[in-house]
Amino acid sequence: AKSGGRNGWRYFNDEMARSASERLVIEFDLRRAIVNEEMTLRYQPQMELASGRITGVEALLRWQREDGSHVPPDRFIPIAEESGQIIELGRWVLEQAVAARKQWLDEGHKHFVVAVNVSFVQFWRDDFVDEVRTTLARHGLPGELLEIELTERVAMGEPELAVRMMRTLKGLGVRLSIDDFGTGYSSLSYLNTMPIDALKIDRAFIRNIGLESSDEAICRTIIQLAGTIGIGTIAEGVETPHHLAFLAQNGCTAGQGYLFAHPLFGCDLPAELMRRGV
Ligand code: C2E
Ligand code: CA
Ligand code: CA
Ligand code: CA
Repeated sequence: AKSGGRNGWRYFNDEMARSASERLVIEFDLRRAIVNEEMTLRYQPQMELASGRITGVEALLRWQREDGSHVPPDRFIPIAEESGQIIELGRWVLEQAVAARKQWLDEGHKHFVVAVNVSFVQFWRDDFVDEVRTTLARHGLPGELLEIELTERVAMGEPELAVRMMRTLKGLGVRLSIDDFGTGYSSLSYLNTMPIDALKIDRAFIRNIGLESSDEAICRTIIQLAGTIGIGTIAEGVETPHHLAFLAQNGCTAGQGYLFAHPLFGCDLPAELMRRGV
């Protein structure tokens, strides 16, 4: 039973009970997911719209449990953020992505970044910047080939300190982008002071291109805003030629989505790079 409601007590309904126990199961299973080698990364190409070249690949986590079932990241990442398990997961992702990028570099693929999602929980750990520095150094990867995707949430609380940490990361050569821009806490007043290289336009807006003029207006506004402060834009979830035409017409820098490529196994990426002349 849980307290609440006007008459004092109310009971968990089935859905709440299911999701509460589901959370516990996910949190429990997550503890062994890395050592059991249940986690893998996929890499989704990001294309420069003007040239059609691959300028980046975003590393995306995939979790296949022992019983073969897949848990989507939207389900387990928030749980891992609450439990603190995101720290270990995030460290693993950074390690894998940097190692993979170094291998592709050694194979001769010089000109694209690997983009890694970093949770605000991970960002705010004391040792995060150090972890990035030592991971790059250990693999001998130039910082210029790593991009870190942060969300607007990192600027909550202590925005000045966040900006200082970003500057240190920039000092390593790392590119920074703001993920899901426009969906979260609005840090517009800090945007100008943040050493950010690109804004990522959330799929929620791209999806409605051609359907919702207000979402089209938001896309245009984000692209213009980025242009004004001299940084790029990456559109997520580009699925149709119509999305692409709209984004290109409005000056969006880059796009990512099923129209170009699904997230790929690391081993399949070199063939895709060759095919596109990267
Ligand atoms: P995100 O960072 O916004 O990643 C983009 C999501 O859109 C990915 O979902 C990707 O597979 C999906 N996507 C890409 N193109 C298309 C498209 O054309 N159409 C549609 N319908 N979807 C598309 P995914 O891989 O399920 O990841 C979901 C979210 O989980 C990510 O959203 C990100 O917030 C989080 N996530 C994934 N990997 C990591 C990670 O390593 N660390 C952290 N902290 N979060 C991660
Ligand atoms: Ca992302
Ligand atoms: Ca995103
Ligand atoms: Ca998104």
